[in-house]
Amino acid sequence: MKVIDHIDKAKKSLFSFEILPPLKGHDIQDIFSTLDPLMEFNPPFIDVTYHREEFIYVEKENGLLQRRKISRRPGTVGICAAIMNKYGVDAVPHLICGGFNKQMTENALIDLNFLGIDNVLLLRGDSLKYENSFLAKANGHKYAAELVKQVKNLNKGKYLDKTFVKQKDYPLFNFCIGVAGYPEKHLESPNIDRDLFFLKKKVDAGADYIVTQMFFDNTKYFDFVKKCRSQGISIPIIPGIKPISSKHQLNSLPSRFYLNIPNELVKEIEKAKDKKTVFHIGIEWAIHQSKELKNAGVKVIHYYTMDKPENIYKIVQAIY
Ligand code: FAD
Repeated sequence: MKVIDHIDKAKKSLFSFEILPPLKGHDIQDIFSTLDPLMEFNPPFIDVTYHREEFIYVEKENGLLQRRKISRRPGTVGICAAIMNKYGVDAVPHLICGGFNKQMTENALIDLNFLGIDNVLLLRGDSLKYENSFLAKANGHKYAAELVKQVKNLNKGKYLDKTFVKQKDYPLFNFCIGVAGYPEKHLESPNIDRDLFFLKKKVDAGADYIVTQMFFDNTKYFDFVKKCRSQGISIPIIPGIKPISSKHQLNSLPSRFYLNIPNELVKEIEKAKDKKTVFHIGIEWAIHQSKELKNAGVKVIHYYTMDKPENIYKIVQAIY
């Protein structure tokens, strides 16, 4: 079932979460261990992130540097299929522009369709560490909105190569499309209004719903929704929540995702004497955020697990 149908049919507030494919060398059992405890709460859908290849430089014996391509977390599509097969829950693979040309994207979408996966979250992906700004692959997409257009075209039966046409009168592709939104603006954007202008382009291109970047102050989300609505963005906006689980994240999350952490939370975490206390504070904060969102009538809350289900379990247990 499509995410948008889950939202439409929801009689009470739903929860979803996202997981990362395991690091190479690990087993799918790691994923099942993350998912098993959370299945008790009947998530309607589960997202699986996509991690593009990276380049590393290795010094050879002669002192020269060798550039090596590595893929740390492959397997997004396989994990989605495994989730649907084992739990009967809809899986939402993330699909990115980075590292893909249009043909590779089309082929990936055909694979998803054959596997019975009809949800996708479409993203641009980040620039690689050594790039000043995001570089699209030759004949690839520069922005997520272009990727949305490609998927919408395929939904209409339009392949890249026009000599291929769908053979029968059935809807071959019918992907439900999610895109990302940033309550505190995307890190590259000069300001929130400019970012919203481009978010609207993704919606106009055919996105069915938005999932937000994590935020720790609900007023950021409520303001964002208000601004979106005033720009004519009327699709569902699913808030993304992440419980802080270490002191280190007070700096790493803002620098990586361009977000603010409220002073009250910062002070509490700084005061904490051990990891267990930080973990507990993170859970309590997320419970407080979730309750407020739920009371405001938010239909789905999306949790960033980072593959650590213990805190998400406690939050969901308190809320659902
Ligand atoms: P876009 O919507 O393309 O926007 C990127 C930037 O370009 C923004 O600043 C926007 O304002 C600007 N922009 C857009 N269109 C134009 C235009 N026409 N002209 C000029 N500027 C423009 N990354 C992964 O690699 N894998 C994942 O699985 C993943 N999952 C994510 C899930 C969620 C819910 C979120 C919020 C992010 C996720 N990301 C993931 C990170 C995401 O790829 C990065 O944040 C990336 O930098 C931007 O992606 P986007 O789809 O928002 O890009």
